[in-house]
Amino acid sequence: MDFRSDTVTQPTQAMRDAIANAPVGDDVYGDDPTVNELEAWAATTHGFEAALFTSSGTQANLLGLMSHCGRGDEYLCGQQAHNFRYEAGGAAVLGSIQPQPIMNEPDGTLCFKKLEAAIKPDDFHCAQTKLLSLENTINGKVLPLEYLAQARQFVDKHGLKLHLDGARVYNAAVALGVDIKEIAQHFDTMTVCLSKGLGAPIGSLLLGDTVTINRARRIRKMLGGGMRQVGLLAAAGKLALTEQVAQLSVDHANAQILAQGLAKLNGFHVKPELVQTNIVFAKLDDAVDIDAICADLEKEGILVTPSNPIRFVTHKDVSAEDIALLLERLANKLND
Ligand SMILES: *Cc1c(COP(=O)(O)O)cnc(C)c1O
Repeated sequence: MDFRSDTVTQPTQAMRDAIANAPVGDDVYGDDPTVNELEAWAATTHGFEAALFTSSGTQANLLGLMSHCGRGDEYLCGQQAHNFRYEAGGAAVLGSIQPQPIMNEPDGTLCFKKLEAAIKPDDFHCAQTKLLSLENTINGKVLPLEYLAQARQFVDKHGLKLHLDGARVYNAAVALGVDIKEIAQHFDTMTVCLSKGLGAPIGSLLLGDTVTINRARRIRKMLGGGMRQVGLLAAAGKLALTEQVAQLSVDHANAQILAQGLAKLNGFHVKPELVQTNIVFAKLDDAVDIDAICADLEKEGILVTPSNPIRFVTHKDVSAEDIALLLERLANKLND
């Protein structure tokens, strides 16, 4: 039982079968029929002109940022943004793009007044602000649709482009009960991780217009991300988007059960009403020795990353029964 992340999900049997049987070709030549089919289908399904299959979400974000921003340009993002904090500074290192982070509001949004104040004037002392990058879901929180519409108005007013780190954008769509296009329509580029809750072994997508995706394809090659018979992965990726989306509502219901159970434990502080998708955070009293508890759990085959606040992620490979068992074990250890 692994609650560390939804990246740990195992490919389904259907994915393994699709991988075994996928027709493939050299994708760097544009010859892989399975990749071509996935990219064309994904573009249409998400309401974009074009799509690019990438090795990871990190790569898809970097390609998005580098496609919009050149050397000495700047992008606005959240202080908590994955592409600011957890992607090894790739935009700065590889793209020579200056990040301008803004504190996220408690609901994960970025305040337009603060963003506006951070846009650089047309002055040769300054980097040129080109892009706003949002993340949805962000730490499990769903950005409201009205906020996305306002973000579009904001970037249009200021002549910026709008990128979405949509690693878990399907969790947002499922939580809102809307078609993915309702979210995607506001963005110039959007990423989607196929290898998190959607269960594909490897791969993400970058979506955008044809010119931007052609630029991204060139940069992907430069980064060593041109892959050959990669239809093996694209075949599983297609099933992630066609057969695994429904599972996310189960994951969200399980996260809610987990949050309500954790809220009853001594020393754990959780607000279940704030849990919107598949990620649950709990603040711990200092008296809780979480390192020892997680080490004990690991011996019992239950993986949780010790931290405070502590994060649990639900996904297709942890069931409601698993969650009940986790809660029981935690309660026992806390009362020892
Ligand atoms: C996981 C994640 C990524 C990066 O995906 P990898 O495939 O692990 O590189 C990007 N953004 C967010 C919000 C993520 O959760």
